[in-house]
Amino acid sequence: MLPEIEQLLIIQDRDQNITKLNADIDRLPLEEEQAKQRLKKANELVETSQSNVKENEVQISKIELDIETRKDSITKLKNQQLETKKNEEFAAMEHSINNYQDEISALEDDQLQLMENGEELNKLLDEANQNLTKDQKVVDSELSIISERRNQFTKKKADFEEDRKKIALEIDPDLLDQYNRIFKSKKSLAVTELINDICSGCHMKVTPSTAGMVRAEKSVTTCDQCGRILYS
Ligand SMILES: [Zn+2]
Repeated sequence: MLPEIEQLLIIQDRDQNITKLNADIDRLPLEEEQAKQRLKKANELVETSQSNVKENEVQISKIELDIETRKDSITKLKNQQLETKKNEEFAAMEHSINNYQDEISALEDDQLQLMENGEELNKLLDEANQNLTKDQKVVDSELSIISERRNQFTKKKADFEEDRKKIALEIDPDLLDQYNRIFKSKKSLAVTELINDICSGCHMKVTPSTAGMVRAEKSVTTCDQCGRILYS
């Protein structure tokens, strides 16, 4: 094999590794975003549960106030009953007092129901909080794994780049330029094997004269079809 081809194959190996690592690094932000998205759902559930609990408590307080208002009215009516001397007036007041008492009973029933609901809502809030804590742990550990991978990828990439730089110094600059152009435009494959006169890059048959030149190994020869550098 031509020594230039040997060196280019090493360069290509480093370049392919760097390309793959770049793709791996580029994917990490998406993975981080997906992990955080799961946490967002758990957070939303806690917020909804908190607001349900609060809303229920507001309802309970409102009923409490309605009961107090009616109790005040009853007290007032009972005082007026003590002062009136007319039987009809007394009876009318008695009727109003009974109405208020019925209303209070109904309100107390509603209040009891809301308190039972409150217990259920508090239970749901506890569950939502527990889920959030659990998810937070899982997501934290996922994020730290992703961060660790980023460090590894970045370090590996730096090693390959360093290695590539050293090897590139030994290659003729024009040949390296040619290689770089092909590597960029031909999907990270610039140097490829000729097998049975067929280029492994584009899978087309080369002309007999090209095949002859590749086998002769006297100069760097490229594929007639795709322009990739060939070796046999
Ligand atoms: Zn080809």
